[in-house]
Amino acid sequence: MTGSVRTRFAPSPTGELHIGGLRTALFGWAFVQANGGQFVLRIEDTDQSRYVEGSVENIYEGLRWLGIEWDEGPDVGGPHGPYVQSERLEKYHAVADELRACGRAYRCFCTAERLAQLRKDQQRDGLAPGYDGRCRGLDPVEAEERARTEPSVLRFRMDRTGTTTFPDLIRGDVTFQNSLQDDFVLLKTDGYPTYHLAMLVDDHDMEITHVIRGEEWLASGPRHLQLYEAMDWQPPRFAHLPVLVDRDGRKLSKRSGDVAALDYRDNGYLPEATLNFLAFLGWSLDDHTTHITPEELTRVFSLDRVVSNPAFFDVERLDALNGHYIRSLDPAAWRNLVADWLDRGLPADIPRPLDADLVTAAAPLLQERVARLDEVAGLSRFLFADLPDYPPELLTERIKGDTELAARTLDAAIDAVEAVSPEAWAPEPVEAALRSLQDTLDLKLRKFVSVLYVAIMGAPRGIPLFDSVALLGRDEALTRLRSARAKLA
Ligand code: GLU
Repeated sequence: MTGSVRTRFAPSPTGELHIGGLRTALFGWAFVQANGGQFVLRIEDTDQSRYVEGSVENIYEGLRWLGIEWDEGPDVGGPHGPYVQSERLEKYHAVADELRACGRAYRCFCTAERLAQLRKDQQRDGLAPGYDGRCRGLDPVEAEERARTEPSVLRFRMDRTGTTTFPDLIRGDVTFQNSLQDDFVLLKTDGYPTYHLAMLVDDHDMEITHVIRGEEWLASGPRHLQLYEAMDWQPPRFAHLPVLVDRDGRKLSKRSGDVAALDYRDNGYLPEATLNFLAFLGWSLDDHTTHITPEELTRVFSLDRVVSNPAFFDVERLDALNGHYIRSLDPAAWRNLVADWLDRGLPADIPRPLDADLVTAAAPLLQERVARLDEVAGLSRFLFADLPDYPPELLTERIKGDTELAARTLDAAIDAVEAVSPEAWAPEPVEAALRSLQDTLDLKLRKFVSVLYVAIMGAPRGIPLFDSVALLGRDEALTRLRSARAKLA
């Protein structure tokens, strides 16, 4: 592609930024970076009843978390501002007036009650819902007169003959029957534009070349094409991204799990992993690449490699990616993250500041095992505080309730740990001592190791055991082993 492209991300501030919205933003941004151009952030707040305080900040935060920056937008300005729709009302009114003057828009005085009844009747008769055009034939001059005293909306006069076809950059030519279209609203009774009018005006004014948006807007294509035609404006190119679905093939929703973008940050996903995960939701580089850095993505992204079929939002894949990124972090960066998540996640009764040396020592053990940062505190709590009391059955949970084996394991472990002298206490001798239990018990480690895990950590699995025992210290390790043994007595 040559020349400069301009795309926009146009969220509505109706709550927290959705993870699907973040994927849309990522694709638009990556497309601009790969082709050269500008990425515009526009806030679509024309539905005042759905406005939620704080959403705009949440949108900024979500985008920036992933490293997505915009060239123009409400907070950074730009030559096509303002970038908030409620500050652009006169622009919409000017275009509405033009459409009215040329006969493509008309006033409609139908009441909410009438429209509700109409919908009911259509439903009952198995008809597609839509405005029936009652006010289409009103005399424009009389209608203007009436509008002075009566509430009205402005509707677009759709051409309902033939078909509308437009080339979608992902789906190819898409064709719609115009007979299925209805005269939709451009201006509401409160004088605010609908999405369709505001988007038309803004995409034109802001010189948007590519509209990259979710599949749910595909069906609005004919409306938008006819609007462009009515204004005699060149339409942008459209790319409708595939819908995100959960394991059951349902559109991603609150029922499927977290949908707020920042919940992923707060649950311990790294931005690099999340970006990598989202990048492959509908797009691919080739038939084998599964890891990509932001730098590479912004170099190679193209819309030709976006598919139209639904993209599976596979959280297990995200976990695996996150684990991969965690293990590739450099030790100092990882240690800082661990410190942060321990501080947030450990119970308040554990004194702060935490023992910095212990944090440093625990970090590499955690790096091997953690998939999400929110596991850090739970997995290493046993290093910072006494074990909470646990039932004896926990000791034998993974060995089919074999109390006798648990008792033998603990007796042997106590002997082995006692045999390491305080002077010799270090990870290697501790490991050698505990490994020697295989001979003592004449069993493979995995047959009894869960007993030791419970005794030391309070759970049948966790971070590496030998290093953890070494870290706890000889006295504390012995205390825990003896207390576990006492539970079985
Ligand atoms: N405000 C619309 C939304 O939040 C934007 C759709 C579009 O990108 O055109 O879904």
